[in-house]
Amino acid sequence: MSGLTIYPLDLGDAVVDLSMSMEKKGTGVPWKAKLLCYYIEGAEKKILVDTGVSDQEHAGRWHAETNCRVTPGGSMVALEKIGVKPKEIDLILLTHLHWDHAYNLDKYKNAEIYVAKEELAYALMPLPPHYFYYEHWNIGLTPWFTKSIQQMKTIDLVPQKVVDQVSVIPTPGHTPGSMSVVVETAGGPYVICGDAVMTQDNLTGNPARHTPYTMTGHFMDYRATWRSIDLISQMVKADKTRVLATHDPAVISKSRYPE
Ligand SMILES: [Zn+2]
Repeated sequence: MSGLTIYPLDLGDAVVDLSMSMEKKGTGVPWKAKLLCYYIEGAEKKILVDTGVSDQEHAGRWHAETNCRVTPGGSMVALEKIGVKPKEIDLILLTHLHWDHAYNLDKYKNAEIYVAKEELAYALMPLPPHYFYYEHWNIGLTPWFTKSIQQMKTIDLVPQKVVDQVSVIPTPGHTPGSMSVVVETAGGPYVICGDAVMTQDNLTGNPARHTPYTMTGHFMDYRATWRSIDLISQMVKADKTRVLATHDPAVISKSRYPE
């Protein structure tokens, strides 16, 4: 089998505080983030990594603070633009269950869905500050992913091969059960990391301060997040251009990886 190809699917934009991408930096400065998910082509299964954000109406009503501009049709239309029908998707790997990563799961009727056990457990019983991220029942919503729970397979949060040339690694910290997807390509391994890293700039540090990385601004567990950034950097041998995050505007400069 020749190398795999990764397609970032552009689902729209969000304008949030820059401090979300870098801890304690850019407070009060607007940051135009992307809303993405990823399609992996060339493996023995057709794989989607996350299914992305809700539609505009829902995002505007329930997540106004993210100022989303969602592309109509979501991940289903974005996939069709590259010649793949939603019913063809065999496997969905969920980096985590936040609403902007796991919407529209129910549109992928033929897919098996993998999520880490820790992530599903936390999503069902989050702390109150995280109710909106998971669209919890306690705020009058229904977590969208529960529509597809019968298609879900919960997996241990350990490194494991999914299919040939595609594996998952544990990258908790942003949430308790966040995982990243490692894709072997002709251009070396790429890591699709969800929100474990917010932008490729998180992979650059400040040598004068002896920090090899820059901490993200959106995490639950500081130490776990830092270790996850370290693991991701090791996986790509410190080549940050091979780290594909969900909200990083730099990613969308290319239509596929590797080019
Ligand atoms: Zn998230």
